[in-house]
Amino acid sequence: MARTKIVATIGPGSAHPETIRRMLAAGMTVARVNFSHGDHATHTKTVAMLREVAKSENKTLAILGDLQGPKIRLGTVKAGGMMLSLGDEIVLTPHPGQPAMIHLPHPDLIAAVQPGSRMVIGDGEVEFAVAEKRGDTLRCIVTVAGLLESRKGVNAPGTDLPISCMTDKDRVDLNLISELDFDYVALSFVRTAYDIQELRTLMEDCPRQIPIIAKIEKVEAIENLIAIRDAADGMMVARGDLGIELPPQELPLLQKRIIAACNEVGKPVITATQMLQSMIEHPRPTRAEASDVANAILDGTDAVMLSGETATGKYPVEAVLMMKQIGEITEHAFPYDQWRDRRLTPHAIGSVTEAISGASCSIAEEVGAAAIVSATLSGWTAQQIARFRPRSPVLAVSPDAHTQRRLALVWGVDTLLVPAFQDTDTMLDKTIQAVRDSGLEPGQRVVITGGVPFGKSGQTNLIKVHTV
Ligand code: PGA
Ligand code: MN
Repeated sequence: MARTKIVATIGPGSAHPETIRRMLAAGMTVARVNFSHGDHATHTKTVAMLREVAKSENKTLAILGDLQGPKIRLGTVKAGGMMLSLGDEIVLTPHPGQPAMIHLPHPDLIAAVQPGSRMVIGDGEVEFAVAEKRGDTLRCIVTVAGLLESRKGVNAPGTDLPISCMTDKDRVDLNLISELDFDYVALSFVRTAYDIQELRTLMEDCPRQIPIIAKIEKVEAIENLIAIRDAADGMMVARGDLGIELPPQELPLLQKRIIAACNEVGKPVITATQMLQSMIEHPRPTRAEASDVANAILDGTDAVMLSGETATGKYPVEAVLMMKQIGEITEHAFPYDQWRDRRLTPHAIGSVTEAISGASCSIAEEVGAAAIVSATLSGWTAQQIARFRPRSPVLAVSPDAHTQRRLALVWGVDTLLVPAFQDTDTMLDKTIQAVRDSGLEPGQRVVITGGVPFGKSGQTNLIKVHTV
């Protein structure tokens, strides 16, 4: 198995029990349900099916709900689209059905842009420069010529929209995500830590606080990266929209920066979009795509993500398998020694949990341990161990099925579910029993970490070297 985790977006190309079964066998660990598409009835059915197949295959699968966020789209353009040439003048209006004008049903955006602002349509097929505001309309000049089509996405790089990150639709979708007990919720177009806070506050009324993945896809998010990281539970390098907001040539270094920021504190990070794009149509990826997946792993990503490849593509199972195989081969040459040096640099450790986690990696190396085992309630200690990228396998033993599923996003962590335990002796007994059952040979050593007294999270303070 690869240590890098694989997120696959579920859609018409994959939402069938047999395909899901094969994707699980191929290495999918997280299923993404994208709320930009589909309705609640479909999502409800999909989630039930995912759980059922995972259960019958005896696999741990986390489910991530991805909120659409304030995605801006054009209204309808005449059938067949409108061919625009360089220098053409067009007028954008918030009102539908105006002849000779283009419908942009977002008055807030029209109010927020300024003369000189750029507006990028779709994936950059067409671009306008705002020339002038006239009442509630915008006069624009075409700066990139192309075909303008209905419902295409609109990005206005650098324009600050004074609206909430959570639309009315997102609020309704959040209710379903909570009701269906998703393992993660991803927030699109995050700009500041306040956006994360707002979602957390909304979840205060929900039965469970679902961990939040901040999708980094706006210039403002890059500017506020550290504050967003600290407020969120993980991040996504959302290269699709980020590569429209910013020139694509800036993406490779930004990807490294976002990944490093998460690695620094042990929060999971997903590298997303177009990783194996050509596999939507073809059974093999391009060489550049294979390299892209490998390089994200070498950057330190926890997970790599498939979007169209599995949502609508022809080869969903092959795409997952390809990612797993790239992972296995790349991890073979993973620079573990460089990561050990990082662990030993000053200021790498800021808490008792981190100290125990770092030390357990060192001890595992020194005694040649077959695994580092973390008895964990919340999974936080396992995340901290994984953050140091130890060579030894990491096994999280937890009585909480939610923790087990959440760790399906964290690099290098395998999990075992055990019956609840109260005191330290039972914790150690149950952990050792679980380790034995997991197939370790008698005589092999394992490094066990846990917290005394057990039962409160964030209490890790114990290391034990145990011989099976
Ligand atoms: P999306 O997010 O697929 O929901 O747009 C990912 C991205 O923008 O890369
Ligand atoms: Mn996006």
